[in-house]
Amino acid sequence: MDLGLKGKNAIVCAASSGIGRACATMLAREGANIVINGRTADTLDETAAEIRALAPDVTIKTVVGSVVDQSVREALAAAFPQIDILLNNAGGPPPGDFHNWTRDDWIAAVDQNMLSAIELIRLTIDGMAERGFGRIVNITSSAVRVPIPVIGMSNATRAGLTNFVFGLVPQYSSKGVTINNLLPGPFDTGRLRNSKEITMHLTKNPVAGRVGDPEEMGAMCAFLCSHYAGYINGQNILMDGGLYPGSY
Ligand code: NAD
Repeated sequence: MDLGLKGKNAIVCAASSGIGRACATMLAREGANIVINGRTADTLDETAAEIRALAPDVTIKTVVGSVVDQSVREALAAAFPQIDILLNNAGGPPPGDFHNWTRDDWIAAVDQNMLSAIELIRLTIDGMAERGFGRIVNITSSAVRVPIPVIGMSNATRAGLTNFVFGLVPQYSSKGVTINNLLPGPFDTGRLRNSKEITMHLTKNPVAGRVGDPEEMGAMCAFLCSHYAGYINGQNILMDGGLYPGSY
């Protein structure tokens, strides 16, 4: 299936590793030019080289720095003359007990997991609408459906982002722009492996008997960004191997 991504220009945030990297790889393999972002130059360059080896015909650019920085977001938005696809992603807020979180902790979480995505949308969405094509995908969390007590700041910031972006859908849908969220359940990435507290809560997936492969999310991301997905808009797409038992 040709997803129609050849020649499209995509921003992929927090793409050095994990889910962001898998989305960047899949978009590039499908022919999209990508600008990838990460906080460490060496790791980001390494990732860019590895993706380039898999997708030698596309342009791959890098912007080093945190998505929390306005200068980084502006550099991402300016990386190509036009941006057709925006994949918002960032590391998750730290786990812990809400009694211990300070106002600064909360502001940092809101900045990273909500405001950075909203600002990148602000910088790119009107250009997409003018050209009649745009795809915005936000990586959030299964915690949007089922809040996970130990990651309260994630529960809160993802929910805030979700409601904000879905409020934009009626304004942009008729202009060819879609906004959807991908909600990972437990996926095999550094975040899951490096956090004992999160692992305890997330890796128990008796339903699927395994955790997710980031490539599976990358493929879903590429499909959501394709021309075939133009009628999928304002959706929370949960990928958790069937762990969530509800019907909505
Ligand atoms: P990861 O830690 O494996 O990878 C995140 C990447 O983003 C890393 O390369 C990191 O250096 C980079 N990064 C972090 N903060 C950044 C920032 N502010 N600016 C730029 N780059 C930044 O994480 P992952 O598992 O791929 O998770 C991606 C997102 O999905 C996170 O928000 C995470 O909370 C969420 N999530 C993951 C899972 C899971 O099981 N892996 C489950 C639910 C939600």
